[in-house]
Order: sequence, then structure tokens, then C-alpha cells
Amino acid sequence: MPLRAKVASSVSRTAAALSRAAGRGDGSVIGGWIGLKIDPDLLAHLSAGRAIALVSGTNGKTTTTRLTTAAVGVLGRVATNSFGANMPTGHTSALAKAGSTPYAVLEVDEHYLAQVLDATEPHVVALLNLSRDQLDRAKEVAMMAQLWRAALVRHPDLRVVANADDPMVVWAATPPADPARGHVPPQVTWFSAGQRWHDDSWVCPECGSTIQRSGEQWWCTGCPLRRPQPHWTVEDDGVLDPTGAWHKVQLQLPGKVNLGNAATALAVAAEFGVRPVDAVSRLGTVTSVAGRYAQVDRDGRNIRLLLAKNPASWLEAFDMADVAPTLLSINARDPDGLDTSWLFDVDFAPLRGRQVLITGDRAYDLAVRLDVNGVPFQHVRRFDDAVRAVPPGRLEVIANYTAFQDIRAELDRVN
Ligand SMILES: [Zn+2]
Repeated sequence: MPLRAKVASSVSRTAAALSRAAGRGDGSVIGGWIGLKIDPDLLAHLSAGRAIALVSGTNGKTTTTRLTTAAVGVLGRVATNSFGANMPTGHTSALAKAGSTPYAVLEVDEHYLAQVLDATEPHVVALLNLSRDQLDRAKEVAMMAQLWRAALVRHPDLRVVANADDPMVVWAATPPADPARGHVPPQVTWFSAGQRWHDDSWVCPECGSTIQRSGEQWWCTGCPLRRPQPHWTVEDDGVLDPTGAWHKVQLQLPGKVNLGNAATALAVAAEFGVRPVDAVSRLGTVTSVAGRYAQVDRDGRNIRLLLAKNPASWLEAFDMADVAPTLLSINARDPDGLDTSWLFDVDFAPLRGRQVLITGDRAYDLAVRLDVNGVPFQHVRRFDDAVRAVPPGRLEVIANYTAFQDIRAELDRVN
């Protein structure tokens, strides 16, 4: 590395360590910020010589990054931004901290994908899904897909691993060739991870016609855009690889959505030459991810934490949750997005018949939604009140970002 980059990297590590020592989080944002101030090309310098995978999408990227890191670990040491700092400051800090590793797996905020592709020149990028998120500041889904598509065109050698079940992702991953400018479409490996949420992809991003669905198939009624044949699929409790071999996947994470994340991780690792048969057992070493899916026993209740940040992830959380008393907690602080009108995009009907409790800064917004949806509920002011209000046994907790962190703090920062 050039001298400036070496100095920037060293200062970045020191700043992050000081921030940690001062008890101000894991320091990755401040460390990366200072490093990039000293050398604006620091992320590119730290990426050089490493084989890198990027993981992006609206939902599931933290968990998929963790699973992919485990799978690629078959080959050697892997740098990763494991604490969800998924912007260039976080990537810079993660790589500076890791020292020299042959591999890196980085979670990337979908808005920063183009910038991080340019800086890191990765070997492979995984495109998980696109759906509405943080209505007061996130881009429209079609606009995100357009940005991704334009970014991929600039990297023709990039391998793309993408979700065949999400029309917006399929369109983004398949930019047309532009022979005049020497552009060829990237090579795409398709995985099928299922998609419960369809309400951001009824309109074709190519031609504006309606997209139709039947079973797992989807197709545009006005142009050739349709679901590609996936190379990697989830079947029963395992993953079918492109050769037709089936691998049983034993995860410590719940839900079909995490089997899909496992299929994605195996597909990305395969782009580095990792055989699924070698990687699959490592996926079972991933327990909870920054508190997500963590289980805590308190006063005879087995409390399980599920994070749900936007309509698509709420649907997945309902699917994962046991039919048991359920606490929902909603805040609308800065990291959550300030607009809670998305609550009306979620159908809470699956919770009918369960004991439902609500809490959080914006519990009353949730109360109105549940009332309209015909779901009886009880409001509690504090987390402990919820624990006392349910019988011994399982208590499912589904919360959005800062509400989740509040409850995690109540449970002594459970991981
Ligand atoms: Zn179309």
C-alpha cells in the first residue's frame, strides 16, 4: 500500500480502538471516517489483493453476510463487517482492522452498492431482494433497481449471484449488452430463496406491464422479462446445488427465509471455488446475529427476538414466529425512519388467535393498525410488563430497529 494509505489505515484502527475503549460502540464508523479523511482512496487500497464478495439487498443482508463468511472460511481467513456498519466507512474500518486476509465478505447498504463496487472491485456480488423501506428517506424500489443495473454495467467481469424470485432484482442483474461501448452483461448465477412479499413488483420495470404469478413462476405480460431458471434452490430442509446434489442444511436460525440465505451463501462461496459439501456444516455454527433470533430465559419465559424493519421482513417474521404470545414493539427514531405509515402495508391477520401485546414509542400507531386489521391486543408500557402479562413458555418479540435494540439492552445486550 502507498504510505498515505498505510498511515490512514493505522490511524483508522487506533481511532476505532479508542472509540471502543471509551464505550462508544464498536468504533467502526468513526475509524473508517477518519481513515477516509486521510486517504479518500483508502477503501480501494485496502481491497487490492483480496478476493471480495459483496452482499446487498433490502432484507437479510446481515445474516447472509454472516453465513457467507462462514462458508468462505473453508479457504482461509475472511475479513467482514460483522456489526452491520454497511457503508464505506464500515467497510474501510473492517478491512483496516482485519489486516491482510485473502478474502473479504462485506454487507453493503443498497444505496451504496455502486460506490462500493467501484472502490472494491469485488469478485462477486450477491443481490438478495428489493422492497420498500424507510418511506421518509429510502429511494423508490424501481429507482434502486435502476441504480444497481447501471452500476453492474460498469463491471463486466463481475460475477453476480441474484435472486430469481424477485423481478426487480432479475431486471437489475440483467442489463442489456452495449457492444458499441464494449459492455457485456455480467454472468449471473440464480438462486431461488422464495419471496413472500410481492407488493413492490407487480409492475414490470422494463415495460410497465403487469407481472403475473403462478406458483413460484412469474412473468411480464408485455415483454420477455420472466423468472430465470434458478441454479440453486431450497428443497425441504436442504439446498439443491447446480449439479443436482442435495445438501442437508442444519441451521441454528429459524424460518424458510434463512434456508434461502443459506442457499445464497453456498452459491456465493462456490464462486470462490468452495464446494457446498465442504461449506454446509459451517453454516450451522452461526447462531444469532447481533441479537437477531437470540433466545433468553427470564422468569420462566423463553423470549425469542426477531427483528423486522419493513413490510417484507414483517411477513417473514410472522412466518418464523411460533403460534405463541407475541410482543410487537415499534419506534420511529432516526435509524428506523420517521414515517410509520408502512404499518398499513403489513397484514397482521396471521397474529389473530395469538395473545398480542404492543409497546414502543409508536405503540399507538400500531394500535390503530391492529384495530383496523381486526387483531385484538393489549398495550404495555414496559418490556417487563409484557413478560409478566404472558404465561410461562415462549414469548415471541418482533420489533423494528431501535425498539429491538432497546429490548436487547433490557436483556443485557444479548447476542
Ligand atoms: Zn415487461
